[in-house]
Amino acid sequence: VYLDGNSLGALPLAAASRLHGVIGREWGRRAIRGWGEGWMDLPVRVGEAIAGLVGAAPGQVIVGDSTTVCFYKLAWAALGYGMASGRDEIVCDAGNFPTDRYVIEGLAASLGASVVWLASASLGAVERAVGPSTALVTLSHVSYGAGEVCDMAAVCSVARSAGALTLWDVSHSAGSLPVSLDDAGADLAVGCTYKYLNGGPGAPAFMYVRSGLQEVQQPIWGWLGHADPFAMGPVYEPAAGMRGFLSGTPPVLALSAVEEGVRVVGDAGLRRIRTKGVALTEYLIGLADARLGRFGMRVASPREAAVRGSHVVLGHSAAARLVSRLADVGVICDFREPDLVRIGCSPLTTRFVDVWDAVEALVAVLSAEG
Ligand SMILES: *Cc1c(COP(=O)(O)O)cnc(C)c1O
Repeated sequence: VYLDGNSLGALPLAAASRLHGVIGREWGRRAIRGWGEGWMDLPVRVGEAIAGLVGAAPGQVIVGDSTTVCFYKLAWAALGYGMASGRDEIVCDAGNFPTDRYVIEGLAASLGASVVWLASASLGAVERAVGPSTALVTLSHVSYGAGEVCDMAAVCSVARSAGALTLWDVSHSAGSLPVSLDDAGADLAVGCTYKYLNGGPGAPAFMYVRSGLQEVQQPIWGWLGHADPFAMGPVYEPAAGMRGFLSGTPPVLALSAVEEGVRVVGDAGLRRIRTKGVALTEYLIGLADARLGRFGMRVASPREAAVRGSHVVLGHSAAARLVSRLADVGVICDFREPDLVRIGCSPLTTRFVDVWDAVEALVAVLSAEG
């Protein structure tokens, strides 16, 4: 029973056969010629496929480096843009995923900016924090902890009226629910491809930069972000559009797997994926209330489906031990500090009976705990 597809999505069969083909036919036989026969287009091609899943019109999404590095590049770009007009504050949710917080901490230290940490990602908290010094507001669309959905459009509008840019981490929303980056008025976004997009362990992340903002400068001036990489010229000149956000050689094997994962999500369709995700998490919450409450286990995710992503956290003082006992009986989920069992209901691969079996296993483990 695999309830961790929100941390590492399952292997799509198509990805396995695609990788065999890429390794044997492309790497094995074409070798260096592969660059001229499709490899170089992968970052853009896979980016455009993802764009369709995050509500982005063409020309605004590209797949680059890890989520951490992509986040760094776009946060640096936004801060540089703001600092040019005297803005030197970053507003960031203190509940953001650690890598996002650490990158922001490092950026602030190296560029001499300051960080305003929000106690929550609520609209009210954002409204109180933004002002004439704010360069950047950065939040997760769906929080990695409670799985709470943030009102992206409302936050974007508050940030925009204050003159600040927004940078969204959509790692826990891409592939699990419809995201509308364009319609919400987002400026920048990054997202992970190995969670709900099933791109494989360590798969590279995507970057979104809205058209009209793509002249911002990113910090890692590599040859593959150059307007003419093979001219090998003396000075850096960024490529126009999203290619300018690349730095080094694309990870071809990883990108090939991502393309297959993204295709499966596109084939299933986000509306249907979201419908099943809501049904799965509703089912889980109902079972948790009915069967786990008496053991002191509480639902710590939003109860309203509209503001809940596709994972549910259950609080219990013995959470860490429970997660390891569950693993002993073949039920895989996550422990999250301080006392949370995180159950991922990745809609493409989770069955209702998996949710039932997981709750059944929890009842058994909790009963045995006495
Ligand atoms: C999973 C996740 C990441 C992962 O970053 P990597 O660089 O791929 O390790 C970043 N941000 C969020 C919100 C995540 O959920």
